Amino acid sequence: SMSADAYRRRHEITVSGGDVPAPFTSFEVAGFPSEILREVHNAGFPSPTPIQAQSWPITLQGRDIVAVAKTGSGKTLGYLIPGFIHLKNSRNDPRMGPTVLVLAPTRELATQIRDEAVKFGRSSRISCTCLYGGAPKGPQLRDLDRGVDVVVATPGRLNDILEMRRINLHQVSYLVLDEADRMLDMGFEPQIRKIVREVPARRQTLMFTATWPKEVRKIAADLLVKPIQVNIGNVDE
Ligand code: ADP
Ligand code: MG
Repeated sequence: SMSADAYRRRHEITVSGGDVPAPFTSFEVAGFPSEILREVHNAGFPSPTPIQAQSWPITLQGRDIVAVAKTGSGKTLGYLIPGFIHLKNSRNDPRMGPTVLVLAPTRELATQIRDEAVKFGRSSRISCTCLYGGAPKGPQLRDLDRGVDVVVATPGRLNDILEMRRINLHQVSYLVLDEADRMLDMGFEPQIRKIVREVPARRQTLMFTATWPKEVRKIAADLLVKPIQVNIGNVDE
């Protein structure tokens, strides 16, 4: 097996922050529950992608993370699998509100994330729903009323539903900002900040982004606590 440094060099991984754990160079060393390993094997994935290999051990330690990696690098499972494990340990009642909250910029992305969560969370019996604009609220509210573990939402629609007091974020303890750069480009910063005010401060926060410009750094500094940063390849600023 390869040393952590050799693996990072080979896959152009750079890390910053204290005590960064070694990457999981294979699924076998990750120690995932068997129901999750089964889904990964069913999908036919040979090994973790570099962002998964380096972000999983960090996230599973409960630490905040900023992950900067290009589109197509496997970021979704990078945060979903540790989210499933977090859920399993949390033992929250889904009727009291979600435990895992994922914010994403568009309806298309949010539904893709939901589909991945449903596929890979099936054996773990995870319930997931998706909230996005441009569609009637009724079915989304009915899904919420049934109780869900994971909510994937665009910031605009989630904010509307919060203002209607039809969702409670008080048991969210795993918050993901996916495509943070795009969410800020689309002008969602005020909605993101309002949503985060409803989430307890005692939480784990994960930020995934393809680029690392000043605006994203600023919101990361405000919302994350002592994050470890993982970059794959050259990072555009
Ligand atoms: P990103 O969010 O970084 O753009 P995605 O999470 O959408 O990337 O993943 C891109 C594609 O790679 C998806 O089809 C996903 O199912 C697939 N994928 C994820 N993890 C792996 C893996 N370990 N090995 C092979 N394919 C993977
Ligand atoms: Mg993605």
